Amino acid sequence: MKLRKNFVAATMLAGAATALSFLSAGAAQAQGALVMYCGVQEEWCRAMTTAFERETGIKISMTRKSSGEIYAQVKAEAANPRADIWWGGTGDPHMQAAEEGLTVEYKSPKMGELQDWAVRQWEQSKQRTIGIYSGALGFGYNTELIKSKGVAEPKCWADILNSKLKDEVQMADPNSSGTAYTLLATIVQLMGEEKGFDYLKSLHKNINQYTKSGAAPAKAMALGETTVGIAFMHDIVTMVVDKAPIKVVAPCEGTGYEIGSMSIIKGAKNMDNAKKFYDWALTPAAQKLGAETKSYQVPSNKATPVPPEAPKLADIKLINFDFAKYGSSDERKRLLSKWDNEVKNLPK
Ligand code: PLP
Repeated sequence: MKLRKNFVAATMLAGAATALSFLSAGAAQAQGALVMYCGVQEEWCRAMTTAFERETGIKISMTRKSSGEIYAQVKAEAANPRADIWWGGTGDPHMQAAEEGLTVEYKSPKMGELQDWAVRQWEQSKQRTIGIYSGALGFGYNTELIKSKGVAEPKCWADILNSKLKDEVQMADPNSSGTAYTLLATIVQLMGEEKGFDYLKSLHKNINQYTKSGAAPAKAMALGETTVGIAFMHDIVTMVVDKAPIKVVAPCEGTGYEIGSMSIIKGAKNMDNAKKFYDWALTPAAQKLGAETKSYQVPSNKATPVPPEAPKLADIKLINFDFAKYGSSDERKRLLSKWDNEVKNLPK
């Protein structure tokens, strides 16, 4: 009997020890994990993941998507968030998510090291998103294809309406792509809403494809699949660095720009790690990884070297982009549905 009692006690102890070890394994796993949605180019996302893991031992599960797609996913998962940190992509869906309470306030100790435009993004979003890089929108053209079509080299937004460029211009879909939404908001601010939509309807006649990702038109230009591609100028520079026969244009009428952003997801299961990543991502050591993976934006930490390849914002005619207005939930939804109804579905 005594023997049996001892056996039961020992079994219970062993069971408790196993349960405890399961519990502590779970806790360790929770401590050592971070789920990131990444909005820049895949190579840069992977470099950030590897460097952060090496430095902290915290394992990242990373998913790369376009800006608008990440916003849609974060919104769909709001009741049970899967991701902890949303790093990169244009600022507008970050601003929209901030307004809709999908992300949380955070003040990083790195704040004092940042450019004014990065801090302004944080202030305008009521501390829920912060600028990590900036870059101007433009277009590029394949010099060989443009010559073969007998088209004068385009210098202005107006030039890419040329009827000789029918089905020769590519841009992304602004619903999925922050790059293309930046174009939509830029054209409306530059020309006024009515003239701006007239412009986009005329441009539609020349569009061969609305791609999902914003950088795709730059890649298609390099492959000779489209003569003109609308994208961020730094994304086109990447193709030029890779020796593609492409020229980058800062449109003569003026152009818009982005403040690529970062936010912490509300209800993040790995909140401490999300904050660790946030602080680290604002350091020069982390921001330098952009240029190392051929992403030539202007970084937001003043001490991060600006890559020599980065288009010089001071030399580009930039509009006074209203990030608060065009990142607001109502305006973003309204403009996107207007574009769907009046431009995308227009017969050619
Ligand atoms: N990749 C780079 C290098 C960018 O600068 C940006 C803009 O923030 C994006 C991707 C965003 O891509 P998408 O237009 O597909 O949302």
